[in-house]
Amino acid sequence: MKKNADLILETVLQSSAHMTAEEIHAALRDSGHRMALATVYNNLAQLHSEGRIRKVCVEGHPDRYDKMIRHDHLVCRRCGKLTDICFQDLTKLLQSQTDEELLSYDLQVSYICPACRRTAHPASTTDP
Ligand SMILES: [Zn+2]
Ligand SMILES: [Zn+2]
Repeated sequence: MKKNADLILETVLQSSAHMTAEEIHAALRDSGHRMALATVYNNLAQLHSEGRIRKVCVEGHPDRYDKMIRHDHLVCRRCGKLTDICFQDLTKLLQSQTDEELLSYDLQVSYICPACRRTAHPASTTDP
């Protein structure tokens, strides 16, 4: 029997969908693992505090969970959708500007996602 924490960790690591706790809960249920939503929340908090998963917070949206592997996020200002993007690693650049030892940074860049751009400008729906 796998522990709940392992099942939750696997679900987060295997997905690139930036799932919320509720989506993780539903995905586990669909694959036959029933656990209380509170259990999912507790394990996510624990995994996050152990530095095994990453939590992505966007104002006005529920927290989403992500793998630790270094990458950045484009965040749609309209719908809050997250898109993975890998900008050049800025750790050294940032570190050169402070004497404090930096552990990591979290970069979220706002934009308007293609889907929202299309709804805003219906005339351009002929774009590929
Ligand atoms: Zn959008
Ligand atoms: Zn991500």
